[in-house]
Amino acid sequence: MINVTKTYLPEKEKYQKYVDRIFASGWLTNNGELVQELERRLCTYLGVRHVVLVSNGTLALQIAYRALGIKGKVITTPFSFVATTSTLVWEGLEPVFADIDTETYNLDPNRLEKLVTPGTSAIVPVHVFGNICDVEKIGEIAKRKNLKVVYDAAHAFGVNYKGVSAASFGDASTFSFHSTKVFHTIEGGAIVVKDEEVYRRCKLMINFGIPGPDRIVELGINCKMNEFQAAMGLCVLDDLEEIIARRQKVFERYMKGFENDPKLKLQRLNPDATRNHSYFPVVFGSEEILLRVSGSLKALDIYPRRYFYPSLEELPYIKERQTVPASSDIAKRVLCLPMYEDLPEDKQALIIKTVLENA
Ligand SMILES: *Cc1c(COP(=O)(O)O)cnc(C)c1O
Repeated sequence: MINVTKTYLPEKEKYQKYVDRIFASGWLTNNGELVQELERRLCTYLGVRHVVLVSNGTLALQIAYRALGIKGKVITTPFSFVATTSTLVWEGLEPVFADIDTETYNLDPNRLEKLVTPGTSAIVPVHVFGNICDVEKIGEIAKRKNLKVVYDAAHAFGVNYKGVSAASFGDASTFSFHSTKVFHTIEGGAIVVKDEEVYRRCKLMINFGIPGPDRIVELGINCKMNEFQAAMGLCVLDDLEEIIARRQKVFERYMKGFENDPKLKLQRLNPDATRNHSYFPVVFGSEEILLRVSGSLKALDIYPRRYFYPSLEELPYIKERQTVPASSDIAKRVLCLPMYEDLPEDKQALIIKTVLENA
């Protein structure tokens, strides 16, 4: 059985050594030494000053909104994983969808500005499939309109744009370290912020607003990362460069198979950014073709996924009707093919052949 992703597992002995350390110390969570070590290493790896590790990428977004004091309406993309929108609704914010660019699948900054109203306080764009957004234009609009920007960078770990990491844009960037992501901590996530005060608030909020013994200084929640998660992260981080290099090979084979086929559309990638090859999305001529292709693959025990479907303006809890034709159209026709570092070559050849025969 071939799935769209496969969790990377590091060398078991290496993980075991960290587990031995955890057992020796008896310290399992609450800002333990492995969480601190992973935070330090991520600061270096990402070239940033502050990384806050949390229990998942969903709460990373929620903490970022709260720590930045985001209120009211938030402009975001309808073409993403549900958490980008559900976190806004969960926090009592109102998502306003800006349609996407039909080539990059990212929020189209040209459609952003006219959606800004006096009630708008922030923009939440996504680097979709690890493809870096037009960060300059988004940054310029945000500055002029006095809006906060939180990048949902869940797909963009390890990606650099013009020499700096994807973590360095906006007022905050958040990551998901779920097992299906390129870099993972089993479950987990991170918030990267620039402002010292916002950083301090994030650290407090993830631990009930408790700064130390006998004091509770603000409203918080519990979303701490534990030591077993951090241990996994420390192991996977060692191997990340090799993981991405191996994914690059898989990517090149897909490109060779599909590049010149007019029946398929591939994502236009930001030319100034590196890639982590988290996903391999293909857009077909119609939903009917997509269903035919995925049906043929499933018959071979190969399971691609409809990332992202449905387009998020269709969520049952979005009450106000919003029309975003580009997102709605791409969402119906996009399929992510299996993409992971040890995808067997013969299986990949079969995937390419099956896609081309049915597209
Ligand atoms: C995976 C993902 C999330 C959620 O992260 P979790 O760690 O699963 O909570 C949020 N946004 C996007 C775009 C994602 O792909």
